[in-house]
Amino acid sequence: MSFWDSIKPAKKAPVAVTVAVAPDQQSLLVTWDDGHIATLTGQRLRQSCPCAECVEEFTGKKVLDDSKIGPEMKLLEVSPVGNYAITFVFGDAHRTGIFNWSYLRQLG
Ligand SMILES: [Zn+2]
Repeated sequence: MSFWDSIKPAKKAPVAVTVAVAPDQQSLLVTWDDGHIATLTGQRLRQSCPCAECVEEFTGKKVLDDSKIGPEMKLLEVSPVGNYAITFVFGDAHRTGIFNWSYLRQLG
């Protein structure tokens, strides 16, 4: 790493430009401000839910049983949370997970 690399500002966090649920409601298409396009399935998003019901708040240990989330998991609703995250209503009525942009980007 050169001297100039070490004084560059930290890399800007990616921001989603568009977020769209597929017509079958089983996947989400995300377009990022750097041009990256990702498709995330409802199953993957539901399994990765970061809320306190799915992941133990203090230990970070996952409580959710992935095997109970089938590939038919739907995304019934997507809503923005401020300008930094989105939240879903899943096919199993779960709706407490908040997915911020950097977490969403990690998933896909
Ligand atoms: Zn959850």
